Amino acid sequence: MRLKMNFSRITVIFFLVTSVLASLTGLKAGDRLRIVTTTPDLASIANEIGGERVETFAIAKGYQDPHFVDAKPSYIIELQKADMFIQMGLDLEIGWAPPLLDGARNPDILPGGKGYLDASAGVPLLQVPTGDPATLRAQGDIHIYGNPHYWLDPLRGKIIARNIFGGLARLQPENRAEFQKNLDLFDQKLDQEMAKWEKQMQPYRGTKIVAFHNSWPYFEERFGLQIVGFIEPKPGIPPTPKHLVEVIKTMQEQGVKIIIISPYYSQKSSELVASKTGAKVLELATSVEAFPGINDYFALFDYNLGKMLQAFQESGNN
Ligand SMILES: [Zn+2]
Repeated sequence: MRLKMNFSRITVIFFLVTSVLASLTGLKAGDRLRIVTTTPDLASIANEIGGERVETFAIAKGYQDPHFVDAKPSYIIELQKADMFIQMGLDLEIGWAPPLLDGARNPDILPGGKGYLDASAGVPLLQVPTGDPATLRAQGDIHIYGNPHYWLDPLRGKIIARNIFGGLARLQPENRAEFQKNLDLFDQKLDQEMAKWEKQMQPYRGTKIVAFHNSWPYFEERFGLQIVGFIEPKPGIPPTPKHLVEVIKTMQEQGVKIIIISPYYSQKSSELVASKTGAKVLELATSVEAFPGINDYFALFDYNLGKMLQAFQESGNN
């Protein structure tokens, strides 16, 4: 009898604790869709659309080169548990995502599976090469299906969000209306921020800059910049002295004062070019979480545009 009473008290306490936890979090962790993304940008947008119905894990960190990520066994474990896998596509992750997916043996998140999502679907691409992809790849080019850095245009971010909405609604049709509401809010916020960003950049439209890697054509087009050269002779090919001489010449002829670079590249050749041209090397974020404070997709643009505006003002570019 005594044992039975204790048992029922424990049962009551158990239910009280779990109901309090459930009301605090809204949902039990087990109810949430587990989403593994290749980059933190995709995780950020998935969090916006999925809200409390999802939990996300990004494989590449924001300060890493998304073309080259070291595969770790812990990533395979995340993929084994995943309900959904989202990648940028266009071969951005070709060097590291396929072996991780193979290792995870989770058919739901393989291409064709209900939880597989390529975020590039329907995204208008820039710089799609006309040559044969295999030949281009053999030459060391890593942008063989078109430029894969499309998330650096906030308006293409809306297409990514729509694709993620589609994927979530497919997995949880019962929550479609909620995902739709989150998508509408995301779009509205992006429109508001976009108006602010365009206004900030307006005085500097047409400013010429040089970039280390060809990560920025979508950003360039959206904000009216002109990238007139790259420190890399081709995406993925290290700079040569001959190429750097050409870049220096271009910068001198066109009065270029800014070289933009991502945190994962060596600054040596950019610094050399900067020292010959009086330009400034500006480290920008190519992903969410690249630097402290860049906590979501909106902050990514706030950070980059803030840094850029400051550099333009300092260099007298306008
Ligand atoms: Zn690239």
